[in-house]
Amino acid sequence: MIKIERLTKNYGSNCAVDDISFEIEKGETVGFLGPNGAGKSTTMNILTGYLSASAGRVSIDGIDILADPIGAKRLIGYLPEQPPVYLDMTVDEYLKFNYELKGCTIEREPHLAEICEVVKISHVRKRLIRNLSKGYRQRVGVAQALIGNPPVIIFDEPTVGLDPKQIIEIRSLIRSLGKDHTVLLSTHILQEVQAVCDRIIIINKGKIVADEKTENITRVVEGNRRFNVKICGPQRDVLDTLKALPGISYVELLAQKDGDACTYMVESEFGVDVRKKLFYTVAERGWAIIGLESLGMSLEDIFITVVNKTEEDIPAESGKRNKPSAPKRSRRTRNTLENDLADTLVKDAEQRRAEAADEVIDEDI
Ligand code: ADP
Ligand code: MG
Repeated sequence: MIKIERLTKNYGSNCAVDDISFEIEKGETVGFLGPNGAGKSTTMNILTGYLSASAGRVSIDGIDILADPIGAKRLIGYLPEQPPVYLDMTVDEYLKFNYELKGCTIEREPHLAEICEVVKISHVRKRLIRNLSKGYRQRVGVAQALIGNPPVIIFDEPTVGLDPKQIIEIRSLIRSLGKDHTVLLSTHILQEVQAVCDRIIIINKGKIVADEKTENITRVVEGNRRFNVKICGPQRDVLDTLKALPGISYVELLAQKDGDACTYMVESEFGVDVRKKLFYTVAERGWAIIGLESLGMSLEDIFITVVNKTEEDIPAESGKRNKPSAPKRSRRTRNTLENDLADTLVKDAEQRRAEAADEVIDEDI
């Protein structure tokens, strides 16, 4: 439904989007995740025809945004980073204005009434937008995007500046839109993509560094592959025993001592639940497990590892960019789980980039 091929955008000598490619299938809800300045808004502005690209192609449902901008834009409902509302209009005036602007042919009153119902602004239709809270202005922006019932919805950081209750409401609205729309949503909040998206595309410094189904990430994040275990027994021997146990890929002694017990963080290999084996092994030695707590993994850890890993990989000669700073090594990057996952994500993204490059070369022949 959305196809981006080798898209690049330079602002003078600054390369904001650097040769990115991805496709979004009909009905997918995709999270476009990245730190501030990563290139999310630039990509979305090109995708929606607000900005021109320096190189590359964008098409919506097969319609090239440059060749037929009106045809392509008709398929898109866009909520930019700053909701494009006119403060001196009432909600009603603003929605009618947008209805005309879009040349919408659906019968006006029932259509606008339905949208207001969906985004819960029916009771403020007569109010001046100036007098609405940030949350309500955002909803008016969402309403504007829904006029004409476009099949593709693009939201740029829709929950920025909202309070927690409003955030929950907007997320649930996006989730419900995702049922019968193709949705691309940008955010720098990891939980947001996890909460609403089928797939996560991570962008950093203009490059796509990961592209993965949310469930694949969540499976690892929430799995029983990492846990803290508290064992009474001689520290050195316990550590050696844990390290030697088949299925365990990483062990770290944590600095929490409780009488003669120590806490160890253990990571198991993919698909292996080592907890029972661990229990019997420890018991056989005459030691005791007095605590076992599954830890899972936070999306933050994965995100930081992916971003760090790709920053290490970016060659310093890239003239367009500032020289990448020395890789930051957080305590967490030592752990194997994040590294494994980051490796997979980064390799997948590289492979997709290579495939996209091949496709374009094929077309040129
Ligand atoms: P994000 O939305 O991910 O925070 P942006 O797409 O807004 O990132 O910005 C990507 C990069 O491009 C940043 O380095 C930003 O400073 C730069 N940039 C964005 N818009 C402009 C502009 N109009 N002129 C010059 N540089 C810009
Ligand atoms: Mg932005």
